[in-house]
Amino acid sequence: MSDLATSLESALGGRWAHVRQEIRGTDPRRFGPPEEELCREAYRAHTTAQLLDLAKEPYARDGLPESMGGTGDFGASVTAFEMLGHADLSLWVKAGVHFGLYGGALANLGTQRHHGAYGESLLDVSVPGCFAMTETGHGSNVQHLLTTATYDGSTDELVVHTPSVLGRKDYIGNAGRDARVAAVFAQLVTDAGSHGVHCVLVPIRDAAGTVPPGVTIEDCGPKAGLPGVDNGRLTFDHVRVPRTNLLNRYGDLDAHGVYSSPIENESRRFFTMLGTLVRGRISVAGGAGAATRTALAIATRYAEHRRQFEAPGSQTEVAILDYRVHQRKLLPAIATSYALAFAQNQLVEQMHEIQTLGDDASEQAQRELEARAAAIKVAATSHATAAIQMAREACGGAGYLAENRLPALKADTDVFTTFEGDNTVLLQLVGKGLLTAFQESFGDLQTLGRIRFGARLLADAVLERTATRSLVARIISGAPSRDSDNAELDRGRQLQLILDRERHLLEGVAMRLQKATKPGTDQFAVFNAAQDHLISAARAHIDRVLLEAFVTAIDACPDEGAKALLNAVCDLYALTTIEGNRAWYLEHDRLSPGHSKGVVASVNRLCGELRPMARTLVDGFGLSDEWLGTRLLEPLTD
Ligand SMILES: Cc1cc2nc3c(=O)[nH]c(=O)nc-3n(C[C@H](O)[C@H](O)[C@H](O)COP(=O)(O)OP(=O)(O)OC[C@H]3O[C@@H](n4cnc5c(N)ncnc54)[C@H](O)[C@@H]3O)c2cc1C
Repeated sequence: MSDLATSLESALGGRWAHVRQEIRGTDPRRFGPPEEELCREAYRAHTTAQLLDLAKEPYARDGLPESMGGTGDFGASVTAFEMLGHADLSLWVKAGVHFGLYGGALANLGTQRHHGAYGESLLDVSVPGCFAMTETGHGSNVQHLLTTATYDGSTDELVVHTPSVLGRKDYIGNAGRDARVAAVFAQLVTDAGSHGVHCVLVPIRDAAGTVPPGVTIEDCGPKAGLPGVDNGRLTFDHVRVPRTNLLNRYGDLDAHGVYSSPIENESRRFFTMLGTLVRGRISVAGGAGAATRTALAIATRYAEHRRQFEAPGSQTEVAILDYRVHQRKLLPAIATSYALAFAQNQLVEQMHEIQTLGDDASEQAQRELEARAAAIKVAATSHATAAIQMAREACGGAGYLAENRLPALKADTDVFTTFEGDNTVLLQLVGKGLLTAFQESFGDLQTLGRIRFGARLLADAVLERTATRSLVARIISGAPSRDSDNAELDRGRQLQLILDRERHLLEGVAMRLQKATKPGTDQFAVFNAAQDHLISAARAHIDRVLLEAFVTAIDACPDEGAKALLNAVCDLYALTTIEGNRAWYLEHDRLSPGHSKGVVASVNRLCGELRPMARTLVDGFGLSDEWLGTRLLEPLTD
């Protein structure tokens, strides 16, 4: 690997670069895909065995607080998990469900009694767990789950019950085959009434794998991908568990069945509980980023040596990477992957700082983390879906063969846009978060009154708070006017254009939604009519967040050669983003037709200039040939 690629790898490494290095040093076969084709049951057994092997490593322990036998190095744990996204994604999901989701529920919603009782069996996987939130009837709107956990004072137990098929727990990872305990999200009911959604531990198998009376488990059957993950459906028929199985950090029942909570408002309590589980969403973004980098490295390596058609007068066929349209497929996607990797590193640091503070972290910091996590999750997973499909096509028929990994990468990551929050729903969350300046979500539409403010003031306030102001302001202040030649190549001008789109869209949607605050207005109709507008504002916000993360990482890069290359890649990211929104810029008179064409020309030119660096750029992802695990890396020789 060239020195330049090594410098890129270190720029991408972030604060937990040493964890990445450790994992790169392991045998890729250990956590990689099976070496031969396996039927579903055999694949699941293989993934379970890998999970037990993974438990020998320190990374899950890093993700837990000391009260559960962990080290509290949360950033290290999430970074390790991201690296596992270069390995087999079935293992990645299975480990994520057990350690991240089930373990996360225990750690964040439970208290000392659960930490002590379940910590070690979580770490050594002697009691595999699952996270049973989604129901057949509700995936996105989980506040309206149907499952109930009703307190019975005569036995001091909770009775967990599925009232109808719509209340059946669905798609639950690890439930189909292995899990012995489920963290079940249910409406908690006492004599005093319903207290909203809480989480209760319910045994679903004993050590021998026998399912207890009252619990019914069905397998979800074959899926589009993730063959090693045993997704299942759970139905509870008046299943009794001790009252102490309630994960009681945010809502408790005493021995008389009297409910108490440090958070009085039911909705606020629920969103606080969900907020503590933010690490799952951050981890999905990380895994999506890793899988995408694997696919792009494979497709780029292939494009370097794959030849089709001679240029006139030449005896040698042209390497497909020399075709402009092929460069336009791969290089902007690589640039976006760099932007996302930098944004992910920032996000993981932010998460680490906040979660290290525990209860001392401010509510505002927590809300900002949730909003940023939602934004990056949407960006990383939608990029994965588009870029992996593109990489598959960029390898032609060879890309379709399982032995070359792209089909599995495509099938396994497809669902990333849906789980840990559907992307469309998350985009609305990002938009609403911006509009309410990170105050409580107005998802119930009752609190729209909160957005009674001057829209322009709001947009500025939000941008002030979220931008890495000083660096970005400095760069923007040096931007040339829009009329100067090649203005689009100036970083300040790029930032200005991307920031301006976000600001304008936010102001526009805020003004539209203000109408909903007038008495007698059909709030849902006003909100629904502006839904696409809100989502466009959220997307514009994400574009700006990624560009700023890129600019910040370049600023911190100590190697001048790497810095120059990253600057060109950043130009490509910024200009392809602007290019993709040319209609908006023209409609809003932010680009003249001439400058709009200039953007296209600049993207083409940058693709040509970066073509010789394509290999270096994907080598910078730090993936050895063994980790890439495909036959597409070198040309076939006789
Ligand atoms: C392989 C797999 C593994 C999973 N693992 C788990 C697990 O371990 N534990 C668990 O609890 N869950 C799990 N899930 C469930 C997953 O989290 C949900 O599928 C997800 O939250 C989406 O919910 P849904 O399927 O009900 O879709 P819906 O919410 O019904 O969404 C369907 C469509 O409606 C759109 N939509 C919904 N609301 C709105 C709105 N307000 N405005 C506009 N459009 C809207 C969405 O964008 C989407 O296109 C898993 C799912 C899969 C497929």
